[in-house]
Amino acid sequence: MRINQHTQLYGVIGSPVGHSLSPSMHNAAFSALQLNAVYLAFEVADLQGCLAGVRALGIRGLSVTIPHKEAVMPLLDSLDHRAACIGAVNTIVNRDGKLVGYNTDGSGALRALEDRISVAGRTCLLVGAGGAARAIGFVLKEGGASITVANRSAERGQALARFLGCSFVPLAQLPKIAADLLVQTTPVGMAPQADQCPVPEDVLRTGMTVMDIIYNPLETRLLQIARSRGCRTINGLAMFVYQGAEQFRLWTGLQPPIEEMQQAVRQALHPGATE
Ligand code: NAP
Repeated sequence: MRINQHTQLYGVIGSPVGHSLSPSMHNAAFSALQLNAVYLAFEVADLQGCLAGVRALGIRGLSVTIPHKEAVMPLLDSLDHRAACIGAVNTIVNRDGKLVGYNTDGSGALRALEDRISVAGRTCLLVGAGGAARAIGFVLKEGGASITVANRSAERGQALARFLGCSFVPLAQLPKIAADLLVQTTPVGMAPQADQCPVPEDVLRTGMTVMDIIYNPLETRLLQIARSRGCRTINGLAMFVYQGAEQFRLWTGLQPPIEEMQQAVRQALHPGATE
């Protein structure tokens, strides 16, 4: 692909974005489909100025990451229903100058889960109560799961439980609750907390499915312990690729090349490794 006067520009906005794997994933997708497009990482502090630039320059689409997922909402022209319900935007589509906000985190997580198990009728422990938990809780509820929220701070955990119409338990009381599925959404398990497990081990029972949405490292301490205790484990890579694939579909209207996107992320995580 040669950059020229027709090249379309996409990117991720956030702070920090220096470690984002989205450029590797989306540029691999553009390249696989031979699209004349590039995807860059933009470190953004001035959100309003950034969106004025997107409109003025005709940037075609953006991924939105921490800390802008909520703050960006009132600055857009319209919101997809699901993004409005969740209260966070991770994707912007520029439709003829109108900026439309979407949320693909929840649907990405659901697809990653449903590759392995069906969530309808399952009991689920949702660990964490931040933006990712809110998006995932929303789609799990839509998908027919029965949820319990567990979080470090009771205030935030209870607020998410109210939003989802479910109950809240402190992290220490998790082992008292039996569930089919546990979805871990805190940063515990990532550097600098890579050696830590965010839940008491006793909650992990044989036959349970445990998904950690962290993808670096691919196998967190939680997933190591869960595997050793006879649980089925799912790492955060599939969610990351599926939320990106949905962004790609929204931007281009094309079927995303998932294999290539996944391979690019694996390669970016472990340069030099061969598939
Ligand atoms: P967030 O809004 O900042 O929420 C963080 C949550 O983690 C809060 O519930 C917080 O609890 C909890 N937490 C933070 N540090 C903790 C600690 N030391 N011990 C226990 N709980 C702790 O963040 P987010 O946007 O939801 O993102 C959370 C994680 O998901 C990040 O690691 C992000 O990289 C990952 N993520 C992955 C994907 C993917 O595609 N795989 C997509 C989105 C996000 P308090 O309420 O007590 O502060």
